[in-house]
Amino acid sequence: MSENGTLLQLKQVAQQYGSGERRFTAVENINLTLAEGEFVALLGPSGCGKSTLLRIITGLQEATGGEVLYKERPLRGVNPQSTIVFQTFALFPWLTVLENVAVALKAKGIPLDLRTTRAIDALDRVGLDGFENAYPRELSGGMRQKVGFARAMVTEPELLCLDEPFSALDVLSAEALRGELLELWTGGQIPTKAILMVSHNIEEAVFMADRIVVMDKNPGRIVADLTIPLPHPRQRKSAEFQGVVDQVYATLAGQTQPEHLELGTAPGEPGRTRRLPQVAITDLAALLEYLDDLTGNRADIYRLAEELGLGSDPLLNLVETAELLGFATIAKGDITLTSLGETFAEASILARKEIFATRIRRLPIIKWLLSMLRAANRQQLAWDVVQTALELEFPPQEAERQMDTMVNWGRYAEILAYDDDNATLYLESNSTTDVQPL
Ligand code: ATP
Repeated sequence: MSENGTLLQLKQVAQQYGSGERRFTAVENINLTLAEGEFVALLGPSGCGKSTLLRIITGLQEATGGEVLYKERPLRGVNPQSTIVFQTFALFPWLTVLENVAVALKAKGIPLDLRTTRAIDALDRVGLDGFENAYPRELSGGMRQKVGFARAMVTEPELLCLDEPFSALDVLSAEALRGELLELWTGGQIPTKAILMVSHNIEEAVFMADRIVVMDKNPGRIVADLTIPLPHPRQRKSAEFQGVVDQVYATLAGQTQPEHLELGTAPGEPGRTRRLPQVAITDLAALLEYLDDLTGNRADIYRLAEELGLGSDPLLNLVETAELLGFATIAKGDITLTSLGETFAEASILARKEIFATRIRRLPIIKWLLSMLRAANRQQLAWDVVQTALELEFPPQEAERQMDTMVNWGRYAEILAYDDDNATLYLESNSTTDVQPL
């Protein structure tokens, strides 16, 4: 370890791929330091070079530019003090769980009896006691990933790199495994000195890491380095946690104006209540996907109308929504996706809903509706009651349009429910809105 506790240092690291005309810069100007005791998450849209960086850091690949220092010494070749856990671990199907873990020690020349003892111990730590003689096919996805963790940890790496280690698991297994890893890490039960985790999941990063490094692409580069000041164990539903999640979203969205100017005020408050543009989520998603496929993720708004076969009003509504939610920025007649927009366009259905919910919860008019519902008897309100309240702000037709949009967006985000039969709005029971600060 270096005197100041720095484990890893990347200085001006760059990576180019291809040759001749096809040569392109995958990442450039990467300056990153990892100290002993740190858990750092790397977030960014697909293709920004996260996996490339992990390979460079572990020495699986030599960068075409810059310098990688490990404990203040230039890294040459594979770093034996580091290991990567991948999204899905390729276990040997013909070996037992124990053998699959022990095999990592064989490569290091450790004698057989010691290999077995250490493998048993590693399996114990990840909660696989009793499964030593099972074969991979007998295990669930979550258990197989635990074997992957045990195989990575049995070599006692100083630097543990995780490449989206939970993304292939179902929700419950992923959450359980995150908790178990955090317990091992914060409890000092593993000799690992630092963890670097690539993730596509903002909440996961805020839940686990001490720092979040945000990357953008074209070319891949670091755009923010945020410290997460929350103690462990973290409460996902706490106002502090949601506050940090919002901050990370804002960074990804490239928010430039103060919130009160950007978002307007709530109905009944002094100031302008910003009207929600009336758009369907499917159309918004289609626009973001379209932009995501374009070079530079940018398009001339005027041409977009033609290319998407939309009238200018519907298009401008979509563009305004994309900007309001931080999925795109508008400048000089061009629309450009933000990192958050790219993340949304490339995310799974569930992740999209989560991103969308987090973004609309910031909007004063949505906050206003949620707080009214929270205060209401049985957390439900008749449509007419809400519409009448909105008519203090908007003409009746517009108030109705706002209601439609709020209900459509809220349903998609799974924070609101609406019963058409008795024209009543409800708070979704699993919504975390009850802990949102207003
Ligand atoms: P994802 O989240 O989709 O895994 P990523 O952020 O990990 O993406 P990388 O896989 O590091 O990104 O890729 C960065 C860029 O470099 C991409 O444009 C990718 O196509 C390109 N790239 C990666 N590896 C190679 C390679 N061996 N040869 C040529 N291009 C590559």
